[in-house]
This record gives sequence, C-alpha cells and structure tokens, in this order.
Amino acid sequence: MSATYNFCAGPAMLPQAVMEKAQSELLDWNGLGTSVMEISHRSKEFIALTEQAEIDLRELMSIPSNYHVLFMHGGGRGQFSAVVNNFLGNNGKALYLVDGSWSSAAVDEAKKLAGETQIDTLNIIEKNGATSRVSIPNLKELDQDYRYLHYCPNETVDGIEIFDELDSPWPIVADMSSNIMSREIDVSRYGLIYAGAQKNIGPSGLSIVIVKDELLQLPQLPQSSIMDYRLGVKHGSMYNTPPTFAWYLAAEVFRWLKASGGVAEVQKTNERKADTLYQFIDSCDFYENRVAFENRSMMNVTFYLKDEALNDEFIKLAKAAGFVALKGHRSVGGMRASIYNAMPLEGVEKLVEFMADFADKNKA
Ligand SMILES: *Cc1c(COP(=O)(O)O)cnc(C)c1O
Repeated sequence: MSATYNFCAGPAMLPQAVMEKAQSELLDWNGLGTSVMEISHRSKEFIALTEQAEIDLRELMSIPSNYHVLFMHGGGRGQFSAVVNNFLGNNGKALYLVDGSWSSAAVDEAKKLAGETQIDTLNIIEKNGATSRVSIPNLKELDQDYRYLHYCPNETVDGIEIFDELDSPWPIVADMSSNIMSREIDVSRYGLIYAGAQKNIGPSGLSIVIVKDELLQLPQLPQSSIMDYRLGVKHGSMYNTPPTFAWYLAAEVFRWLKASGGVAEVQKTNERKADTLYQFIDSCDFYENRVAFENRSMMNVTFYLKDEALNDEFIKLAKAAGFVALKGHRSVGGMRASIYNAMPLEGVEKLVEFMADFADKNKA
C-alpha cells in the first residue's frame, strides 16, 4: 500500500505511533490477557490509566489546580447543551460570539434550551469582498451581566481562527474541539474549555472538559445526570460507564504528545505546516484562500480552485495520489486540508507538490 495522507476534518487521523501501539496491545492490554475494552472501568488498571491521562493533560496544557478535568460523553455538541444546563439556570444570560458554523450551531442549541431572551449573540465576522476577517468590539463597553461568554476560537468548517486571547469581563467558555493542544494557551484566562475528541485527541464520542472550580456554583437547569459537571467531578467522570476505549486512546495520544516535546514543540511544527500550505496557495494564482491573514486557521486550511469546474477532477486525482478527504464542507464548498497535530510536515509538503503539479497541468 502506498502512503495515504488523510486530511479529514473529523474524525481525523491519529498519530501512527499511537495506532500501532493500540494494534499491538489490542488483545492483551497491560498483561491482563484481555483488551482494555473488556475490563471494568473501576478496575485498578483502568483507574491508573485515567489518573495518568489527567496528569499528562494537566502537564501538556499547564492546567491550574483550581480547574477540574472531565472526560465526558457526547462530543462537541454534547457540550453545547451541557454548558447551558450547567451554568444558566432560569434567569442567567449569556453572550455568544458568532464567527462561523460551529459557534452558530452552539447558539441554536442554547436558544432551544434556555429562553431566547437569555441568549445574546454578536456576529464578529466582517466581509471584505470574499475575504472574512474577525473583528471583536471592546467587550468591556457592553454594559451587561453575563454568566459567560461563549466563543469558538477555531471554526473548523470555515477555516477561521482567533489567535488572540479575548479580553472579557465574564468567564470565557471556549469550544476548542478543533484546536485544543495545537498551540500554547493560558488556561487561567478561561472559565471552561471543551473539545470533542475526534480532531486533536482521539476517537469521536468523547469530550474533554476543563472547568474552573468556581463556575460549578452557578445555578443549573434540570438535566441528564451524565451531563452534570458537578456529578462528573464528584464521580471522577464515572457517574456512568465512560467511553473506556476512547479514553485509553486519548491517554495514548497525550503520551505521544509529551514524547514529541509537548505543545510548544507541536506548535512549531503546526506553524510550519500551515505556513507551507498558505504560502504555496498565495504564491500560485491557480488557488485562493478567503480568510484574512491574521485569522487563517492553523488546523483547517480552506482553499478554492479559481476554476471551480476543476473541483471534481482535483478531488479524484488527489485521492488516486493518496491525499484523501480534501473536499470542503458542503456548506462552503471548495477544499479543506485539515492538518491537526497528527499530520506530519511531510504530508503537507507532499500535498503542496501534488497541488503544484495539478496547477501546472491544468493552467489555461
Ligand atoms: C467537530 C466540532 C464540533 C462537533 O463535534 P461532535 O463531536 O460532532 O458533536 C463542535 N465544535 C467544533 C469547533 C467542531 O470542530
């Protein structure tokens, strides 16, 4: 089999070393003679795994001790509702910044669960022709008492990223599903960080929640017990049976990240990967990117062929050459190369070679 480079936006590729380790110990984990999937989540072996996973995640992200780490069910969208139900109560208000598809979906869910009047929204995308740019007003001038501010620092579908940390008078809730651990951040600036696992952490279904202790005092709405942060904390993320295999793989990804030098090192590689791809796109008048320079996502590189009639041919030849899942999201069209932590620099360099070759052959 020739090399396949998988640019899927999610579920995304996992580090090869992790997949190989999982394969080698699939039937006999930790000398138990069974798979990690087939043992009790309350066994001492599995508990040891979860403890190490938390230690590693805390170290990777420098998570302060007044924050809890939860491993939950329900992916990214599960948290769209959990945040509302855990923090808003009957009369709290929240502000949602909208910079693309996922932050907009979070608003829809919040409005469904809380009253329309409890959810304020602010569109922070400015269009200049076809180019999108993020523009955030001075939040301190909004004279409002919000329980939290929700935003999505990396819009996976649109390829838009907000790199600056926000200056918010209210606790910040951030959907980091597609950029968690892609670069260093200061966790202490956030009230809650959540991420569906399938982009940068592990298999789908699992979500990681990092929540500041004091936010757990906020009034809740009635909700399913498995989505209750306080019960999650009290039961060590084991109020019910957790997704154990996903947790195991996440733990292996954390281990791999640490062995790769941690987030600071991975960030350097991610910057090189994104620079390589964007610089090529800018240098070649066959392709274009439609996001302002300072908001171009480091994880999801969206681009368009200037002659869109060639889209199908591009996808077909790319696939034949081993570059899969490059088609953009159906809502925005074009192409998207998702280059999460697990994508090696080599994959991006090879993709650029392919794109240059395709451009040469198809130039009018
Ligand atoms: C993928 C994604 C989600 C949704 O995740 P699910 O696990 O499918 O619910 C939410 N937010 C962002 C930013 C995403 O990239």
